[in-house]
Amino acid sequence: MVWEERWHALREEWVVVAAHRQDRPWIGETVEQRAPALPDYLSDCYLCPANRRISGAKNEDYSQTFVFDNDHPCVDPSAAADLERPVGIYMNRPARGIARVVCYSPRHNLTLAELAAAEIQNLLHVWQAQYEDLGSRQEIAHVLIFENKGDVVGVSNPHPHCQIYATNFVFKHIETEARAGERHLRETGRVLFHDIIAAERQDGRRMLWENDSAIAFIPYFARYAYEVFVAPKATHSSIAAMSQVEVRDFAEVLKHVLVKFDNLWRMPFPYVMALHQAPTDGADYSGFHFHIEFHPPLRKPTLLKYLAGPEIGGGNFLSDTSPEEKADELRALPELHYKGQEYQ
Ligand SMILES: [Zn+2]
Ligand SMILES: [Zn+2]
Repeated sequence: MVWEERWHALREEWVVVAAHRQDRPWIGETVEQRAPALPDYLSDCYLCPANRRISGAKNEDYSQTFVFDNDHPCVDPSAAADLERPVGIYMNRPARGIARVVCYSPRHNLTLAELAAAEIQNLLHVWQAQYEDLGSRQEIAHVLIFENKGDVVGVSNPHPHCQIYATNFVFKHIETEARAGERHLRETGRVLFHDIIAAERQDGRRMLWENDSAIAFIPYFARYAYEVFVAPKATHSSIAAMSQVEVRDFAEVLKHVLVKFDNLWRMPFPYVMALHQAPTDGADYSGFHFHIEFHPPLRKPTLLKYLAGPEIGGGNFLSDTSPEEKADELRALPELHYKGQEYQ
């Protein structure tokens, strides 16, 4: 049983851990556990190769990954620049950007967890190129790469893909992490994320997997039951700065984590995955350490973590589970994907 607050050094906020709450009786809503089997190809899927999208554009007949500009972008390069000023103390500013979609594979039913490590490596190279291309543009201040996976996080198309928002603003979590990292570097001379990795390795209880240059763990301050961080050990402000060898190691660790996730309940494991990378607005981000964060919304196969009174009403996360126990659970799982695919 854990009943304490833990400091989230990256978000600069406290997380309340009340780990005995998992056992309370549950009479709320549940989610469907068994995902229906999907075909390799669907003629009406707007992400499958050579299909036509709603916009009328035709997908390439692609054989690996496929990148295209989102037909329904949340951010758009043509958004108005001269906004009408609001009254009183209110402020506004133009929100502009480029939204893209990256299909992981031509196969409609092949999730990131089921890609071979070499295919994940290839995807990491695509992410590197996207960060460089979009981040180098004058009008772009940040490149957010993320995947929403599973019905429970509102995915509109099950064809495995991620999204890219390259924007003229920096998202709040990145801004906070950048500020926290900069201050830590100034005050201690050390990279904040290095100190987090060092603490995780020293404690050991939340470690999931590591190789020469990459590492995965459930952080001490995890807000979600199965929250996992994957990072290179050396500090790079973005994925683009990682070497070939680091990309290979990173893909191996990522694959390991994804297989464990799917094996947990023998189902495609839903999550929000976000690449946390330094802004591209030209400032100095030498204290920023690229990492991937997984925020899985389920606490049990049919039980969602609801954001409610403490989180939405009060503004602090209340975690019902102990990160140490959850890491134990993940570590104990097989390294072979439950669908029988060979671990590579
Ligand atoms: Zn498809
Ligand atoms: Zn982060």
